[in-house]
Amino acid sequence: MIQFEDLDLDQIVADVLAGAELARPIARALLDCPDDRLPDLLAATLKVREAAFGRRVKICMLRNAQSGICPEDCSYCSQSRISKADIAVYKLQSVAQLVDGARSAVDNGARRYCMVCSMRGPRDSDIEHLGEACERVRAEFPQLELCLSIGLTSRPQADALKDAGAGWINHNLNTSRRFYPQICSTHTWDDRVATIENVRAAGMNTCSGGIIGMGEEDDDILDLAYATRRLAIDSVPINFLHPIKGTPLAAMRQLSPERCLKTACLFRLLNPFSEIRAAGGRELNLGVRQPELFKAVNSIFVNGYLTTPGLASVPTQELIERAGFEVEQG
Ligand code: SF4
Repeated sequence: MIQFEDLDLDQIVADVLAGAELARPIARALLDCPDDRLPDLLAATLKVREAAFGRRVKICMLRNAQSGICPEDCSYCSQSRISKADIAVYKLQSVAQLVDGARSAVDNGARRYCMVCSMRGPRDSDIEHLGEACERVRAEFPQLELCLSIGLTSRPQADALKDAGAGWINHNLNTSRRFYPQICSTHTWDDRVATIENVRAAGMNTCSGGIIGMGEEDDDILDLAYATRRLAIDSVPINFLHPIKGTPLAAMRQLSPERCLKTACLFRLLNPFSEIRAAGGRELNLGVRQPELFKAVNSIFVNGYLTTPGLASVPTQELIERAGFEVEQG
């Protein structure tokens, strides 16, 4: 078994930037990095991040477009049918509300706006409605990158949304194929891969990452990180479980700031040229160590995550600048 101490970090950086896929024993050793060597891992990761993205950080903002009425049973999710979380419940917002959300994203310095719907997958009427919203947002804010997260999505549905002006569809793999049945029984990991393939086949950008801290093992994080690489995912959000009262994972406490940072480094080193985004749970799980994330990630959400609050845009921008990075401009 390879230990972190055995690794030549300069060689790893060179290999990664040359396009090589890290061997799994090396990736495992990176994830197993001793806490006192984490600064070295972060410094190596920063070299890769800077080569691909400089010191820019892209701000993204979510809109909970349909809340709390999902028929699926994802155990981490406050909006699932088995959740008893005290959250807002409403059907698909009007086109005007969704356009307002885009306006708010622009006002908050976001470069990407993602409309998220709690649903297994969209009906044709949802696609028509969301398509109209996309057309309106495209016309009013042509510079804004437009993403949707709408559950299991067919190829014709993806085609229709692309025609309406959407550029990205988010559909997270969440964890490994092996661990997936532990967190959801109403659809499979392979169902999720099929959606990603439909999105790519429609000519859209793929956005898919995961959640760490759900009770998975190192191998599950490695499997997920390799899956994002092999599926050539364009944009990879990493969520750090924020346990929500009323969900089956309410009592789960698995993460430390160090674990979160090592995972972010792993995803960057396996996906050197993809966007890697710090997503839900960064505030709770990293606290004052959030600035170190920017050595791995080049993108971040502001103003919260669907049903949990998060750091607002201005303090997040201050965080970025104090850490020596710069907010990506439109
Ligand atoms: S499919 Fe999405 S909205 Fe529905 S329960 Fe799972 S994570 Fe929540």
